Amino acid sequence: MKHLIVANWKMNPSTLEEAKDIFNQVKETGAVICPPFVYLSALGANGAQDCFYEDKGAFTGETSFLMLKNLGVEYVILGHSERRKYQKETDAIIGKKIKASLAADLKVILCVDRISQIKNALKKIENWKLKIGNLVIAYEPLFAIGTGKACPPERAEKMRVAIKKVLGESVLVLYGGSVNSQNAKDYVAKASFDGLLVGGASLKPKEFIDIVKIAC
Ligand code: PEP
Repeated sequence: MKHLIVANWKMNPSTLEEAKDIFNQVKETGAVICPPFVYLSALGANGAQDCFYEDKGAFTGETSFLMLKNLGVEYVILGHSERRKYQKETDAIIGKKIKASLAADLKVILCVDRISQIKNALKKIENWKLKIGNLVIAYEPLFAIGTGKACPPERAEKMRVAIKKVLGESVLVLYGGSVNSQNAKDYVAKASFDGLLVGGASLKPKEFIDIVKIAC
């Protein structure tokens, strides 16, 4: 696969039956599929939408990085704007999650809409450069997430370049925000992103397969 395509199902769908139906249609695409935690095991998916930074213990309702690792999950999305908004996750909390996940050799997809979020989250991780191969940044401008108003590719490209300036050319940078089969090419071809983070459209198997085909 030429580009890294990640499906963020968010808190969807409502039944395991539907989850299996979507998953079975998209699993051959080679994309990273991130369903809700409750479906991870049954689907054998390779991605998760979050994790907690302690490995186990009295943290009711949480799912640890170690549980994901032991389940065979490869990628974890951290710092998604919806978690920053609804769960009040701060850069400091996200930094702890990144640190624990990288130490366990999980691949981290860190979502940001500005450079300061990267710098703040990595501040207390002394050896992040050693783990740079396992760190992926998803540039997700707030105004574009779930709104149908994707970021103009020229504007997104400026952020891609700025992120690589901070972290180095080798870090993978994805674009996320109202991606669909009509605009997917703009981000990987025109704006030269290394891949895409797809929310809403990843729940529509035909549309998602088209996006993967266009982007890869
Ligand atoms: C997302 O959830 O990260 C996202 C980009 O959502 P959408 O594609 O629906 O804008």
